[in-house]
Amino acid sequence: KNLTSDRINRIKPSPSVAANALVNELRAAGHDIINFTIGEPDFDTPTHIIEAATQDMHSGDTHYTPSNGTRALREAITIKLKRDNGLDYSIQEVVCGNGGKHIISSAFGATLNAGNEVIIHAPYWVSYPDLALLNEAVPVIIAGKEELGFKVSPEEIRQAVTNRTKWVILNYPNNPSGVVYNAAELNEIAAVLRDFPDVLIMLDEIYEHFVYEKSVHISLAEVAPDLKDRILIINGALKGYAMTGWRLGYGVGPEWLISAMTKLISQTATCSSSVSQAGAVVAFAGDQRPVKEMCAVYETRRRAICDHLCEVEDISFIPPSGAFYLYINVSKLLNKKTHNGHILHNDDDVVEYLLREGGVATVSGKAYGMSPYIRVSFASSLPVIEEGCIRFKTLLAA
Ligand code: PLP
Repeated sequence: KNLTSDRINRIKPSPSVAANALVNELRAAGHDIINFTIGEPDFDTPTHIIEAATQDMHSGDTHYTPSNGTRALREAITIKLKRDNGLDYSIQEVVCGNGGKHIISSAFGATLNAGNEVIIHAPYWVSYPDLALLNEAVPVIIAGKEELGFKVSPEEIRQAVTNRTKWVILNYPNNPSGVVYNAAELNEIAAVLRDFPDVLIMLDEIYEHFVYEKSVHISLAEVAPDLKDRILIINGALKGYAMTGWRLGYGVGPEWLISAMTKLISQTATCSSSVSQAGAVVAFAGDQRPVKEMCAVYETRRRAICDHLCEVEDISFIPPSGAFYLYINVSKLLNKKTHNGHILHNDDDVVEYLLREGGVATVSGKAYGMSPYIRVSFASSLPVIEEGCIRFKTLLAA
């Protein structure tokens, strides 16, 4: 008998986690797979962070912490916000949790009533709609437009807002499109958001450190300080410091929201790992050179993968300004016949073909709310990228 709740039946497993799990399964069965699904840095966590956490364990800091995080960590986060984003926050306006997802789901849990709407622009990170659904809210999707460079227009936001809207989510550098907004664009978005004083604004800045060429990351909270009392910034020691497994995310926002989220965390998780918190203090407040070094490596990989894949006929993409993904348009591949006689009907079929016939794992655009596309991650070493691109070219030529 299946006794699961309506709530759990409203959502699906994370498609990107599932894609990565399938890669591990195929590898365990002996297949040689190039993993372009991976949404995390392939670097090791910088040594000084590991050493700080280890030292902390030896000195006995292995107990519960306050539910919003240790004072040292929240102080380190306020230092980081000042240094990197020019933002002034107090430690009462910071809450820590087990990764970005945990912070987003805590924010939703603390604010959403049944029937509230959450505005999400496609292509979007896979978890936003499901986390809204889990909290009985309705995801309202603004369809993305490749001709606008996958950027949301302020007017589209205005048209999507209703009297049920609780949140508008902005994620940049964007997963999966690589979009980054400049100050002028952010000012226009802020002008629209000013007209809706009861709407909360979620800024997912998880990829802030990875921006390329002339792009810079600017927080909407810096451009529009008057909106600060309804902005929640989502970030963490995840992608930027190659610490995805440490599960340390944080949220920064108005005190009423942070204390509601803290109450929820006190009942659902107690607190995040004390050891991870100790490592994150050093990540945020310590030496920032490793972040810059990693970004420079991504820049090289980005160039390599763009150079290779722009030669491939029948696919196209906009070179990403940030994060570490290409969102590739595969519409010209649809209705074509593969060398073994299958017709490619949609982006799922393209993903399946690349994986089964060439051992190249990607994620279908369907998961990000915009088809027909595939997402290719370049968070892999140059030799892996090269090999993946060779297979890609060979398969699509066939
Ligand atoms: N937000 C975005 C846009 C992401 O891509 C991710 C991870 O892939 C997260 C948040 C944080 O997720 P997690 O809690 O799984 O580390």
